Amino acid sequence: MKYIIVTGGVMSGLGKGITTASIGRILKNRRFEVTAVKIDPYLNIDAGTMNPAQHGEVFVLNDGSEVDLDLGNYERFLDINLNASHNITTGKVYRNVIEKERRGDYLGSTVQIIPHITDEIKSSIRKAACQKINGTEPEICLVEVGGTVGDIESMPFLEAVRQMRGELPSQDLVLIHVTLVPIDTMGELKTKPTQHSVKALREVGIQPDFIVARSTRTTDYSTKKKISAFCDVPPEAVISAATVPDIYEVPLELEREGLADVLCDRLHLEKREPETSWYRTVMKEYSESVAVAIVSKYGIEDVYISIKEALKHAGRALSTQVEIVWMDAEHLDKTVLAAIDGILVPGGFGSRGVKGKLEAIQFARTNAIPYLGLCFGFQLAVIEYAQHMLGWSNAISEEIGNGRYVIAILPEQHSVTELGGTMRLGNYPITVKEGTLIHQLYGKQEIIERHRHRYEVNPQYIDDLRQAGLVFSSQNGDRMESLEISGHPFFLATQFHPEFTSRPAHPSPPFIGFVHAAKERKAAGHGKSG
Ligand code: GLN
Repeated sequence: MKYIIVTGGVMSGLGKGITTASIGRILKNRRFEVTAVKIDPYLNIDAGTMNPAQHGEVFVLNDGSEVDLDLGNYERFLDINLNASHNITTGKVYRNVIEKERRGDYLGSTVQIIPHITDEIKSSIRKAACQKINGTEPEICLVEVGGTVGDIESMPFLEAVRQMRGELPSQDLVLIHVTLVPIDTMGELKTKPTQHSVKALREVGIQPDFIVARSTRTTDYSTKKKISAFCDVPPEAVISAATVPDIYEVPLELEREGLADVLCDRLHLEKREPETSWYRTVMKEYSESVAVAIVSKYGIEDVYISIKEALKHAGRALSTQVEIVWMDAEHLDKTVLAAIDGILVPGGFGSRGVKGKLEAIQFARTNAIPYLGLCFGFQLAVIEYAQHMLGWSNAISEEIGNGRYVIAILPEQHSVTELGGTMRLGNYPITVKEGTLIHQLYGKQEIIERHRHRYEVNPQYIDDLRQAGLVFSSQNGDRMESLEISGHPFFLATQFHPEFTSRPAHPSPPFIGFVHAAKERKAAGHGKSG
């Protein structure tokens, strides 16, 4: 196993996750089997209980684990499926160590950060690294250490990395430090923050092998030489990573910098010619564009990163640039909505913004505007339908108020007392009804999609809703998984989250259908240009 450890310097938000995923991609393009692990130094066991407005989207894996959004980037860039072991947090590490201590596994020794926590970290990394990916053993494992070098939280992880470096042959582990190269008022690239953060790394005993210079501009050779001189890495190991308009261009940028070859050299891996098919998928030219509104509680893009990417994947497949109009559900602008090619209501929790989301759904339904509802957007579509087509003005979800619960808590949730990891999570098989829109989109009757919810369509009202014209087009057992409205150009909502499994090379069928319908609306002279 070859390890590529990625650390971050200067500040967070440099795009370390995208850089890590992109390094993986350029190696995968050389037919190496690549896997990836994210270390999050926070004390939470997982991301499931964290506020997405602070920490970004909670990503869900096949096995139902709720993880950091970077795992979504790894899955999308590498086209692999990860599991819970690929997201290591301080919380998980300490929980394991404390459980072992209680069991008496440490045989009377004083349990300490070094060696017990660091040993646990190393064994968690090794365990995750050898998890089979698509049935084969990985050859290369990327390990992204979250946070910034110098944080108290990340110290034990960096110490574990330092130990790994000593324990492994030098060709089996490389360290890549991603850092910021800002530009001063004179327009000059500044290397001082990089020097300082490399100094901070060295203080904990780690010397990087590569430095990735994140900047709004390309890092030129003379700046590379300067970084090289101060940080003791050869100039060819200083890699420029300028901001690009689309994240999928980052691997191409690293490729141009020649990173793959120097990396393969350093890791004693065979130098291979890269395959280019992935670039052809992600770099498709756009011939058309559509505008879709995402009506949500948070206008923060990081909260809906998988939806944003899924729209991009579907758009690419249809040669269509999808412009996203972020719309605050509490300040719904109907004139903007009227000029839009599609409306999307994403997942969500709680009552804030519900009124506006319901109005947006009604607007889409009654004005023949393509609608895609995801999870909460599915439940709210049921509520909207019950309110207006059944005349049940008090129809509501048990989660958000009092009234007639057309959306009710899942029966198995009644006994749940804890919040962490207790929703209906991850993969469930779904049977699709023949002849429905969703059947047409997936082209098959058995599908598997990821979930994250506590509430469902109340079985008590399913017949009434059906009689009023709502089509429940797929189910998991007796549980409703999607709905549609016949006669509407495109009205599809899913209890599951198709956005989590969308990949550049395999766009998600509901998103394909949605973007396609948005194109048709625009072509018919409605929507943005109409
Ligand atoms: N709040 C809803 C539920 O728990 C929807 C969840 C979601 O959108 N992810 O069922």
